[in-house]
Amino acid sequence: MRVDLHCHSTASDGTDTPAELVRNAAAAGLDVVALTDHDTTRGYGEAMAALPAGLTLVTGAELSCRIDGVSLHMLAYLFDPEEPELLAERELVRDDRVPRARGMVARLQELGVPVTWEQVARIAGDGSVGRPHVATALVELGVVASVDDAFTGDWLADGGRAYVEKHETDPFEAIRLVKGAGGVTVFAHPGASKRGRTVPESAIAEMAAAGLDGIEVDHMDHDADTRVRLRGLAADLGLLVTGSSDYHGSRKTVALGEYTTDPEVYGEITRRATGAFPVPGTGGI
Ligand SMILES: [Zn+2]
Ligand SMILES: [Zn+2]
Repeated sequence: MRVDLHCHSTASDGTDTPAELVRNAAAAGLDVVALTDHDTTRGYGEAMAALPAGLTLVTGAELSCRIDGVSLHMLAYLFDPEEPELLAERELVRDDRVPRARGMVARLQELGVPVTWEQVARIAGDGSVGRPHVATALVELGVVASVDDAFTGDWLADGGRAYVEKHETDPFEAIRLVKGAGGVTVFAHPGASKRGRTVPESAIAEMAAAGLDGIEVDHMDHDADTRVRLRGLAADLGLLVTGSSDYHGSRKTVALGEYTTDPEVYGEITRRATGAFPVPGTGGI
């Protein structure tokens, strides 16, 4: 039994449509494939409709999180996609423009700038509000001479005094929300140091104590030493160990099923989940 628990479709940044993904998964000899697009479940319907006989679909998502300034990805499996709290959080991660612009207005007010949300909203008009509109408000108020002058460390540049980061979920909140929606959490590629700073083992231990179910160990971004270390950590913390391709179609070189998850671990994930159940293929359309 071959199980690949981490795949992307065109619902996020993969290049296979959800239908192509499940067909390709069957052609690659997989028995189980998980659809884990970034912060969205919108590929589910198409994947289910196209699901070939003999292939089982695990519904999931890869949630964008951040802890102490370090971005990380949390895989969530078999949660109820309609559960409102987790749904609202996914929507906020995908589109945080309004709360983010409001946050920047609030920081500017704290800095003594008499900008208002009404002013920024008027400047944005029918467009989707963002930093350039806040910058234009600063020009209108005579705080800076030009929009470019607003994009400095004094004001709105990345890391500037009035800058607000893009919203990403606190991983402990992600674990809580996914559990609340009946799902199971697996920390994706926790040792992928090529992607930037990684989360320290002490934080993974805290996540385990908070209900994290597992960590992804067999992944293209982990070298042999990292896998050995992570397997040891999982054993110490009582976490499940998964392996997955993190397939993105032609965007990455990794093949479907290049890394897989032990069928017993897959069985344990399905036993823990109550929000949704694996969907057996019926032949597809
Ligand atoms: Zn990822
Ligand atoms: Zn991924």
